[in-house]
Amino acid sequence: MNTNLNRYYFSPEHELFRESLRKFIEKEVLPYIDEWEAQQQVPKSLWRAFGEQGFLGLHYPPEYGGAGLDFFYTVVFAEEVSRVFSGGFGVIPLVTQYMSTPYIYKYGSPTLKQKYLPPVIRGEKIAAIGISEPAAGSDVAGIQTRAVRQGDEYIVTGQKTFISNGYYGDFIVLVVKTQPEAGLQGISLLVVDLDSPGITRHKLRKLGWHASDTAEIFFDQVRVPAENLIGKEGQGFFYLMEGLQLERLIGAVGAIAGIEHLMEYTLAYMAQRQAFGRPINRFQVLRHRMAQLHAETQAVKTFVYHACRLFAEGVYAVEECTIAKLLATELANKAAYECLQMFGGYGYIEDYKVARAYRDVRILTIGGGSSEIMREILAKILIDDRTYSAPADPAGGAADTVAEVVQLLRKQAAGPPIGVRIGLDLGEHHLVIDGTGPTNQLLEGAREAPCVLQVTPTDLQALLTGQLDPMQAFLSGKVRIQGDLNLALQLQRLFPR
Ligand SMILES: Cc1cc2nc3c(=O)[nH]c(=O)nc-3n(C[C@H](O)[C@H](O)[C@H](O)COP(=O)(O)OP(=O)(O)OC[C@H]3O[C@@H](n4cnc5c(N)ncnc54)[C@H](O)[C@@H]3O)c2cc1C
Repeated sequence: MNTNLNRYYFSPEHELFRESLRKFIEKEVLPYIDEWEAQQQVPKSLWRAFGEQGFLGLHYPPEYGGAGLDFFYTVVFAEEVSRVFSGGFGVIPLVTQYMSTPYIYKYGSPTLKQKYLPPVIRGEKIAAIGISEPAAGSDVAGIQTRAVRQGDEYIVTGQKTFISNGYYGDFIVLVVKTQPEAGLQGISLLVVDLDSPGITRHKLRKLGWHASDTAEIFFDQVRVPAENLIGKEGQGFFYLMEGLQLERLIGAVGAIAGIEHLMEYTLAYMAQRQAFGRPINRFQVLRHRMAQLHAETQAVKTFVYHACRLFAEGVYAVEECTIAKLLATELANKAAYECLQMFGGYGYIEDYKVARAYRDVRILTIGGGSSEIMREILAKILIDDRTYSAPADPAGGAADTVAEVVQLLRKQAAGPPIGVRIGLDLGEHHLVIDGTGPTNQLLEGAREAPCVLQVTPTDLQALLTGQLDPMQAFLSGKVRIQGDLNLALQLQRLFPR
């Protein structure tokens, strides 16, 4: 642990909290981890014990049983549950508290919050987040699970896969299509109790994370009360994009804590393992490899804490969360490889924890958005000047702006055809206005056009309502044009004169 870095981000109270959590884990978790890994299950009673000690719901307000603490207590929590040589153990409370229930807390109705948050904070309920499907993982917009509104219920049909906590969990925040033809605006989030009739689930056998369950879940005409809709219908994609920042940050924090723990374990082994008449930590080549790893870990950790600080301050830091997730999880894989090498043949034997660490880290560059997706987000920021503005909040926000913009466009496109095909790149949302036929067609989700305008939903709204002058928008860079400028000019026919 780098004390200078810790002193900068953690108060003595944070450190006291860390100490008591670490002691609890040493007593209640570490002695049983091997057993739980072998059984591929952590007893649910453990989470009640976590809850009774006040270790859950750190960031949730007291009205739901939470502690209302600052985000760096959550950082401590994520670090400590990642220092047990079982990625599968750590992922259970992290998914429950930071990857599933935040959607209910941030966007859910008071009824949903009262129903689902207190039992999670007491450790009585385990939650899952259901995004991935057999044919759609990275491409979230491609999900097929369907929810059809019938009276005061949704009828859900479809399949999810790779769902952490999906087998032993109690409820799932389920990503569904409520309006398939509406593109990104046809995606919604529903809370679904996992014991509902029509649900079948199977545990998947996997390379690592043995203590956690990862399930495929089938939904056959599952009836879900309409009040279980999180936030507004059609806004689920935007809620997800925001929530994924926390998921990625927590992933990065856990990855770094795991590296540090693995390095401590490895350095202890290197101090006692003899070769050629001396401890192997005397061989310069090995010392330098560990020193290099230490340097890289501390550099990335510093950046991860910086991203945590931005998050704690409420900054919508897509770039920083993405970099943190990318670098920390890639480094965790490198660290596992390097550390295992220090153990020689013993590193390959299951009796040594490094073998499990080697298996467990492999998922980190895949789950929660793969490294390729992280690089894709960064490339868009770096090369395409893409900006990410905070999506919907319960009172409205950017997702509502997109909805309003699309509505405005529909209204204004009802006039004479503009004679050309123009694409609009609104960040997370793409559409094409095809005015080459007898009427203007609005094609949501389409991208192919000889001319594409990059503009934020807010600026497009200002253009469509006459609050922003098109020429000024172009000259100031608020609108960027890819393709033929003459075609772009035709879009002005939709703006007020
Ligand atoms: C143990 C485990 C736990 C998980 N837990 C959950 C969970 O709780 N909830 C949940 O919803 N999901 C969960 N997942 C699923 C996980 O998030 C997905 O596996 C991940 O998002 C990748 O999706 P995919 O597997 O469909 O791969 P694909 O999307 O098919 O990708 C295959 C490969 O192509 C690359 N690729 C895809 N698109 C691009 C692109 N545009 N540019 C460059 N490369 C690209 C990917 O990086 C990857 O290397 C879990 C997975 C595992 C294994």
